[in-house]
Amino acid sequence: MADFDTLRIRAGYNSAEHNYAVNVPIYQTASFDLGSIHRAQSLWALEVVEGLYTRIGNPTVTVLEDRLIALNGAYSALALASGMAAISYTILALTEGGGNIIATHSMYGGSEDSFSHFFPKFGTQIKFVKDRFDVSSFEAEIDEKTRGIYIETISNPNAEIYDIEALAKLAHKYDIPLIVDNTVATPYLFNPIEHGSDIVIYSATKAIGGHGNTIAGVLLESGKFKYSKEKFPQFYEKSYKIKDRNGNMRSAFDIDEKSPLIIHLRAFYLEFIGAALSPFDAFLILQGLDTISERVEKQTRNAEKIVKFLESRKEVLWVKHPSAKDSPFRDLAKRYFPKGTGGIISFGFSGTDEQLDAFFKHLKYFSYHVNIGDVRSLIVNSPKTTHAELDAEHLKNAGIEENTVRISAGLESADDLIADLEEAFEYVFK
Ligand SMILES: *Cc1c(COP(=O)(O)O)cnc(C)c1O
Repeated sequence: MADFDTLRIRAGYNSAEHNYAVNVPIYQTASFDLGSIHRAQSLWALEVVEGLYTRIGNPTVTVLEDRLIALNGAYSALALASGMAAISYTILALTEGGGNIIATHSMYGGSEDSFSHFFPKFGTQIKFVKDRFDVSSFEAEIDEKTRGIYIETISNPNAEIYDIEALAKLAHKYDIPLIVDNTVATPYLFNPIEHGSDIVIYSATKAIGGHGNTIAGVLLESGKFKYSKEKFPQFYEKSYKIKDRNGNMRSAFDIDEKSPLIIHLRAFYLEFIGAALSPFDAFLILQGLDTISERVEKQTRNAEKIVKFLESRKEVLWVKHPSAKDSPFRDLAKRYFPKGTGGIISFGFSGTDEQLDAFFKHLKYFSYHVNIGDVRSLIVNSPKTTHAELDAEHLKNAGIEENTVRISAGLESADDLIADLEEAFEYVFK
């Protein structure tokens, strides 16, 4: 298998299969000619997923899926219209019939809010652990209805890290999958499947796309997890909808026992709920992937320099990044993230809201908006924006302090970024 840097440009695409086009063509079509009754039968039997109707498959989207499979050492992938679609599909499908998922409060705001308030409406319970840094706290929440453990490999916004292998081991002891949102880490910095994760989710909107121009998501399965019939009967239920070409009813497990979740999602969730990724958006994400290594590398180095600068400022109350002097995650970072821990930093701003407003306005090279992993450096006051849906108690549980400011380091010159921050501090606290 070639290296990551080769695969992110080459994997999943053979130009000879696409009129020798050098760039992946955008198959901007809703539907495809069926060609022959024989071909139609093979499409309806899910023998191939692309070339029928773009809601359930499209050749441009397939290249993106195949490339991400290669970059993650995964077995199968499903690209979707957003990261939230990937999260919702996964959680709802695993807990069909009233299961629960073990999670932490330290998550992307939309995940925290949907886990707390939205999924329970569908009979899916989320059990939040009391102490997210203690594996036995996760174990304490597991019961006979638990269908997975869910974490972010580097959390948003505080860049917390877990002992992922210990959590994978715990999940497997109870025959449930470890589901990780690897958005902040990116496949460049961390391969969750190598460390025992079973299901990997990305918001491709962030560093995978990398240019802040497209909403997209993807989920991947390792192919190694054995879904038991007792815990996951939905994958064993025979259905006429996924019959074979002779009309025999099948289950997702019958079609592919290594990847029943993605078969189930494609056949039912994508078909009936339909958060399909558009071929044009898949193309933009593929274009982003071409440069992911250089972008994430520079963002990480820029973030490390910004951390050092912030640590030197008296206006900064604290800095959270695994490279920070007093970070409790230095050892885990060394063990799991040899290339560094990415571009997300949070810090405590010592001034008033008015001073923070003036600080943001004075910055020239940091955009005040919600996104991460962009080529541009971004800055935001998380408790009032990205995590605004969390009430005081949820913010406290997530470890997000009132004065939290989050930076997503971009690709500008680190010297210019630091000078910009310095000037804004001097201006506001003069
Ligand atoms: C942005 C984000 C999401 C949601 O993804 P969308 O593509 O915006 O739907 C999920 N998880 C993390 C960690 C994120 O940063």
